[in-house]
Amino acid sequence: MAKEELECSFCGRKKPETNLLIAGLDAHICDRCIEQAHGIVLEESKQMTDSDLSAELVLKKPQAIKDFLDQYIIGQEHTKRVMSVAVYNHYKRLLQEQTEDDVEIQKSNIIMVGQTGTGKTLIAKTIARMLNVPLAIVDATVLTEAGYVGEDVESILTRLLQAADYNLEKAERGIVFIDEIDKIARKSDNPSITRDVSGEGVQQALLKLLEGTVVNVPPKGGRKHPDQKFIEVNTENILFIAGGAFDGIDRHISKRLNMAAIGYKAAHDDDIVDKDNLLQYIIPKDLKDFGLIPEIIGRLPVLTYMNPLDQGTLRAILTEPKNAIVKQYQKLFEMDNIKLSFTEGALDFIVNKAVEYKLGARGLRSLCEEILTDAMFTFPGSDETKLSVTKSYAEDKLTRTFIKRLKAVS
Ligand code: ADP
Repeated sequence: MAKEELECSFCGRKKPETNLLIAGLDAHICDRCIEQAHGIVLEESKQMTDSDLSAELVLKKPQAIKDFLDQYIIGQEHTKRVMSVAVYNHYKRLLQEQTEDDVEIQKSNIIMVGQTGTGKTLIAKTIARMLNVPLAIVDATVLTEAGYVGEDVESILTRLLQAADYNLEKAERGIVFIDEIDKIARKSDNPSITRDVSGEGVQQALLKLLEGTVVNVPPKGGRKHPDQKFIEVNTENILFIAGGAFDGIDRHISKRLNMAAIGYKAAHDDDIVDKDNLLQYIIPKDLKDFGLIPEIIGRLPVLTYMNPLDQGTLRAILTEPKNAIVKQYQKLFEMDNIKLSFTEGALDFIVNKAVEYKLGARGLRSLCEEILTDAMFTFPGSDETKLSVTKSYAEDKLTRTFIKRLKAVS
């Protein structure tokens, strides 16, 4: 065959009719067909991500989920295991819908109890990122019963829709993290006849959402009014994770444990109680005694706790996670070609200050920010190429006013 007779094996155009003809082993393809094929590939992969969302999700086994969490969250072994299983089961449940079966798997919504700053939000965020599903973080304290000043519970779904860029299918498989769930606990033990707008009423309003229902959601938020267009959101496959500090719940736990100890079981060795971390013994009844209504507790069947962060954990949080605070600052400096390092003494000093002023993990960040602000202001554009933060450098940079401010909040 003469050279000028070469043609595209797909559309048959002769070489002179094309801008480009690429040769394969036994065939040729022209520029137009490449473009068309590329379009098909994009379209196909888009359809894949839309419809095979759940098939993708199920590929992550609990161990793989836990391995992922380990990269970002220090400690909290128990919660990471419990969450890995709950998340796995939740997405298995989504798949199960596609098969014909009588056994219906209950939703594995989760409730995490633990002091603020121990990583509850971080775990929810990390899971959402790993699964590549939208996440809405909402504060239970702003929720009120419909008709009262505050936000209706439906606003939770508006947030989720926004997080999903208004892709309904994605939103319906997303995760909602309800923070400060303890703040909507019933204020007193006896249900009173007076209205409890921000407490039990909100719990009641949340019930249906947690269980799975179709809700009319105002897409832009705000109050419902008659001529607003709604989006119907089905919450059946949305995973709800609730979190709260439940300050004072240890009293209920301890009371219960003491009562059990009076019984005949007290003679066993394994009845020794770790009084410094009573949360590890939490059971659903303690949530009820704290003021959550039994129906809510029933719809959050996976209960887990967060350990308080000790000195060692705080130290690890500074340097170990994939996006550890120290690594983040090193990256910021690196962008100005400055090598940032911390001596062991400096890191211990930062952790000690966080412990001293009871700042928790969040405080680590503000301490680093304060120590590095001067350098972040003066170094860029100068001749400096490295900064080694020592204990005395850190001490020097923590100004009196900053310490005073810390004292005020601690
Ligand atoms: P919570 O929701 O329990 O109040 P967060 O998840 O918001 O706490 O934690 C605040 C910050 O503290 C996180 O962004 C993270 O930087 C850090 N942090 C807290 N706990 C951990 C942990 N166990 N591992 C790694 N970082 C943590």
